[in-house]
Order: sequence, then structure tokens, then C-alpha cells
Amino acid sequence: MSDTPAAETRRFDAEVHQLLKLMINALYSNREIFLRELISNASDASDKLRFEALTKEGLKGLDQDLGIEVSFDPSAGRLTVSDRGIGMNREEVIENLGTIARSGTRRFLESLSGDARKDARMIGQFGVGFYSAFIVAAEVEVETRRADEPAAAGVRWRSSGEGDYSIEAVVREAQGTSITLSLREEHRDLLNRWQLERIIRHYSNHVAFPIRLVEIGGDAEDAKSEDHAEANKQVINDTQALWARPRNELEDEDYKSFYTGLTGDPEAPVSWAHHHVEGSQSYSLLLYLPAQAPFDLLINRDEREGLKLYIQRVFIMDAAEQLLPRYLRFMRGVVDSSDLPLNVSREILQDSPLLKKIRATVIKRSLDLIEKLANDGGETWDRFWKAFGAILKEGVIEDFEQRERIAGILRFASTGSDGAETVSLDDYLGRMSEGQDTIWYLSADSLKVARSSPHLEAFARRGIEVLLLTDRIDEWLVSHLDQYKDKPLKSVTRGKLNLDEDAPEPDEAAKLLAGRIKQALGDEVGSVRPGHRLTDSPGCIVADEGGMSLQMEKLLRQAGQAVPESKPDFEINVSHPLLSAMARLDDGKRFNDLSQLLFEQARLAEGGELADPAAYVQRVNRLLVEALESPDSSAQADGSADGDDSNAASA
Ligand code: ADP
Repeated sequence: MSDTPAAETRRFDAEVHQLLKLMINALYSNREIFLRELISNASDASDKLRFEALTKEGLKGLDQDLGIEVSFDPSAGRLTVSDRGIGMNREEVIENLGTIARSGTRRFLESLSGDARKDARMIGQFGVGFYSAFIVAAEVEVETRRADEPAAAGVRWRSSGEGDYSIEAVVREAQGTSITLSLREEHRDLLNRWQLERIIRHYSNHVAFPIRLVEIGGDAEDAKSEDHAEANKQVINDTQALWARPRNELEDEDYKSFYTGLTGDPEAPVSWAHHHVEGSQSYSLLLYLPAQAPFDLLINRDEREGLKLYIQRVFIMDAAEQLLPRYLRFMRGVVDSSDLPLNVSREILQDSPLLKKIRATVIKRSLDLIEKLANDGGETWDRFWKAFGAILKEGVIEDFEQRERIAGILRFASTGSDGAETVSLDDYLGRMSEGQDTIWYLSADSLKVARSSPHLEAFARRGIEVLLLTDRIDEWLVSHLDQYKDKPLKSVTRGKLNLDEDAPEPDEAAKLLAGRIKQALGDEVGSVRPGHRLTDSPGCIVADEGGMSLQMEKLLRQAGQAVPESKPDFEINVSHPLLSAMARLDDGKRFNDLSQLLFEQARLAEGGELADPAAYVQRVNRLLVEALESPDSSAQADGSADGDDSNAASA
């Protein structure tokens, strides 16, 4: 073995290979983002060095003139992004550039749809990182050295992005990393000052380190050489920390372009809030409300990114977990504190009283932004609500302190509005009729099921508005929101309805019929009772006052959870013709069949499931055959009451 081992060839992880192929196809039309990704890595590496140098002995004396250089050589077809940041040693290079180390990338791969346009949009938002270099490069060479290791610890990595890469030891004087791309022929048009400047300004204008654009080779010795040299020294981005500047110096465009650099979101933010808090503790806060949801927002409740913590302009960490509650995980922004120690750790942050204060402000300001959007309404709000409404609802469940405030922002479909119009709880309160003291709701799988639910009949008749809840989370929401502004929320499917005091007590005949149906249904139901809920339908299922609704049972079952044994009550509408007919029917097979059918229909009408669907179908068919074969079926609904075995055909 020699002292300087020759280059070693290694294979990529299978996943890297897959990602590379996908990316090159999906991003072809969005090729410019590679530069954003490489500059953002360079900036991260510089941040890391600055941060580590605060605490690590070996790094303290280091050259900290951190800057990023983008150099290009049109005649050679090459572009290099160099930083003077933390760098990587051999193990880190293998880990970072040869495998997909990050779980985020893995999830991203899993969620690719194969639809090139959708995927490209997602990749754009997601930030694909280093590998995006292969969108434009036929070959990529990385040279790097960790800032705290000697020049001999340099590493060179090379790959053409196919199945493998090579890695070898080199001597590298400069700390940090240089990434050189040999561009494919068709992408060499990128190699001119005007193009590159435009791309860097567009995506990376607010990177906190100076970015210099340097042209190499070509006709540097011609008459323009002085201008040329001058241009090569210029910093082309705006390195000032935008959030630290006074608000009156900033235009909307500044905020928007900062957002683009911060998030990579191709769409402009909906709105933002910028505050400088002075006093015993001072900090700056810049919060953005995005227009669209990043792809993994709903799935990924726990690993949150989006709020960066700076201390005196030094990037410390992504502190979304400390500063944002889950239900605001779509917010983006920056917090910069002057009063936290620079060497702060996650553990310290966890119980820092200052951070708790900042967190409270972040929540308040975020809700201000959302509330304003909701009050303005219109298309912007509708879009926001579609993208983030279900997430915001988690707040009612999780944040007791803000419960009522968040509830006030929520919007629901309602019988008081048609189509896609939604209403707020305050709208609802404002429309309540005299004497109404309850906010009524109905939850169901879809608006269609909700709107045709038999449970709404009694309310429609009395002109009482009912909120229609169809999000999966709504059942949990209402189980935490038992009242709003002192008015209780109640499900229309639950317990006894006392809509009008003077409703007549059911008569003996009605009670008798209910008793017979109960007997026919046996243990399947709790009780059967005549009620006032219905006008057009013969029967409906009623949950216990304190019990679980059918919808909740279903959700739990879908989530694989145990559902407590419970028997719903069955409310019948004795004035319905079907029930009048049944009242005249002798007990027997047909009465039993009809009772079963009524009960099963009621379950179906609520989008519920039948215990034995095949038996239901047989019952329906049996009755259909009887009806069709009865000689005067159309004229004699009741005449056939005793014809139980006159046509014994069975299904
Ligand atoms: P991400 O930056 O999102 O983590 P990348 O694929 O861009 O993903 O990079 C993977 C890892 O490689 C980074 O997390 C970082 O550790 C390392 N890396 C990439 N570029 C550099 C660089 N210029 N300097 C130091 N480390 C780098």
C-alpha cells in the first residue's frame, strides 16, 4: 500500500441513482435551480463554520473571511461554486454525497408521482440539493477540506452521475469546498455574466455571505480587461440581513424576494409581518404566510422546518420546533434575538423563558395574519383555507389558550349557505333565531352525504341553520370545542332534540309500534323511539347524548383503533306512510324484514356501514319480488298486509 492511495471507485446507493435519473428528467425545464442549491449549500457550510468557530478551540483563529465565489469559464464549459466554509472529510463526503442521508429526501422520493410536471413543481419547492448539479453537468468534481483539518486531509470526489463515483485524497490549501461542473453542451449558454447574475439575484440575493461572480479565461487581455477585472471583484447579492432593517426602508418587492431565497417557493407569499421588539429583551421577527403547501406538510407533523433562529445575525438553527406550534407549521420566517447566548444548545432553547415569549408573539402575529386574511375573504383566503385549513384546526385541539380565537377563524359549510360558500361561527351566532341557544352541527364523510342527511329535516322545517362538517379532523375538533362564546356546540344526531317545547308527546299507538320494531331488531339497537327529527324520512340513527357519534366510530375504526361496543338508538317518524303501513301489518317475517330495512337504510343514509350487506340485499330483493308479483301492488299498499305467504318467492 502506498501513502497516497489511488482514486477509489464506489457505487452510489441505489436511491441516489434513482433520484438522479428522476431529477434530470423532471427538472430539465427548471435547470437554473441547481445554482440556488449549490449556493445554498455553500452558505450553510459558511454558517456552520461561523457557528462552530464560536465554540471550538481549533477553529477560533481561522480565516473567517467567508464568501462564496461563482466562477465560470465559457471556453472550457465549466462552472465552479467555492466556499470557505466548514468543508468535509472523507467519511462526510461518502455519507453526504454517496447516500441519501436525509430522511426528507427519502420521503420526497416516495412521494414522486411520475407526472413530470407535478414532480418538477415539487422538486422546486423541496430543494433537491447537491445532486441537482447533474441537471446541467456531464461531470461534477468536488474538492473539499474540513476547516479544522490539515491541507493533506483534502478529498476529491468525481462522478458523471451514472452508477458510481470516485474518491481520492488530495492536498488542498484552502478550507471549504469547490464544486466544479462540466456543463453538457446544451447548457453552456448559461455561462455568461448576464445570465448568471440574473439567476443569482433571483434566487440567492439575500444569502448572508457575499457572492462574487468571476469570469475565467476568454479574452481577459483585450481592451476591456480593466472593466473585466473590476467586474470580477463585485459582490452581486444584497448581503444585509433584511429582517434587521427598519420597515420603512423596505418595499414589498424586498420582502418577496427575501421569501423566495428563504423558502425556494416559486410562488409569492400571501402576506407577511415584520416586527422589531425592543425592551428588556429585544428581537426581530419576520413571518410569512405562504400561498401553497410544501408537499410533506400534512404527513410530516413532527419534523418541522420553516422558522430560522439567528442570534445577532448568526444563523443558529432551524427552530420551528421551539417557536412554532404544530398547527402553524406552514408559517415561514426568521427570528433574530440579541439576548440569547451564541453557544445556545437545543436543550437550553427548550426551556428558555425568552424563547417562550418569542413563541407567544409568533403565535399571536401568525394568527393576526391569518385572521386578517379570513376577514378579507375572497380567492386568496379560499386558497389558503384549502391548503392549510385542516392544519389550523389542529390548533383548537392542541392550544387551549388560543382555542376560541382559532375557532373564530375557522370556516364551515352550512345549511345557511349554498354551494361552496362557508360561514364562520360568528356568522352563525349572528343569524341565530330568538330562543336558539345551541350551535348545531352535523358531521359526515362528504358534503353530499351531509346535505341529504335525514337529521337535517327537523332543522330545515324550523329554519335552524346547521354547520356541515366534512373534514376528517372535524370530529376531533368538535369533541374539544364544546362551546363558542358561551354557546354550546351540539350534534344534530345526538340525544333527544328539544327544538320546540310544545311538540306533542308520542301517542300510545306510536309507542306500541316503536316497541314492536325494537323487538324485531333485538340487540342491534339501544332503544327505538318516536321522535320529531324527521319529516320526509322514515327513520334515523341517534347517538347517545354523551356517546360516540357514528362518524367518530368510523374514523376510529379506519385508524385501526378499538371502538367501544355501543348501541345506537333508532328514532322513527310515525307519520311516514311506510310506518303507518307497518303499524297495520301483523308481526311476522315481513314486519321483521321491514324493520331491518328501515334500520339499515338509516345507517346507509349517514354513510355508515352495514354489518351484513349481503343479507340487506336479499331482504330488499325479497320485498321487491313480493311487490312486483302481487297482482295489484300499485293500488294496495296496505291490502297486502296479510299476504305474507301468498307469494313465497325468495331472493
Ligand atoms: P442538504 O444541503 O439539503 O442537506 P444536499 O444534497 O445539498 O442536501 O447536501 C448533502 C450534504 O452534503 C449537506 O447536508 C452537507 O452536509 C454536505 N454538503 C453539501 N455541500 C457542501 C458544501 N459546500 N460544504 C460542506 N458540506 C456540504
